[in-house]
Amino acid sequence: MKKKIKQLFNNLCCSVCHQGFDEDSIEIKRDEAGLLVVHLTCQHCGKSFGVAFLGLTDITLKNPDDMALNVVEGPDAINYDDVIDAHRFIQNLDSDWQKYLPK
Ligand SMILES: [Zn+2]
Repeated sequence: MKKKIKQLFNNLCCSVCHQGFDEDSIEIKRDEAGLLVVHLTCQHCGKSFGVAFLGLTDITLKNPDDMALNVVEGPDAINYDDVIDAHRFIQNLDSDWQKYLPK
């Protein structure tokens, strides 16, 4: 699964040092059916890009460009507040966290 996740970040590079991401850049916080929570950190300069919620049971990439996530700086870049919110959200998750999943 981690290799598949890495494909999501294949075309991207760190917005700070412009190095690519590798498997070590991806830390899986939660791996549950239908939901993955991953934390992306640049292994070269240490910049944290925060967490990403992937609502996928299986990641298939026919055209990786379609799935590219925008983590470089731009109009849709993750900002500091988003990271804090995501951390708070995860910290508040407890055993019934699956109630957040769409039915
Ligand atoms: Zn970097």
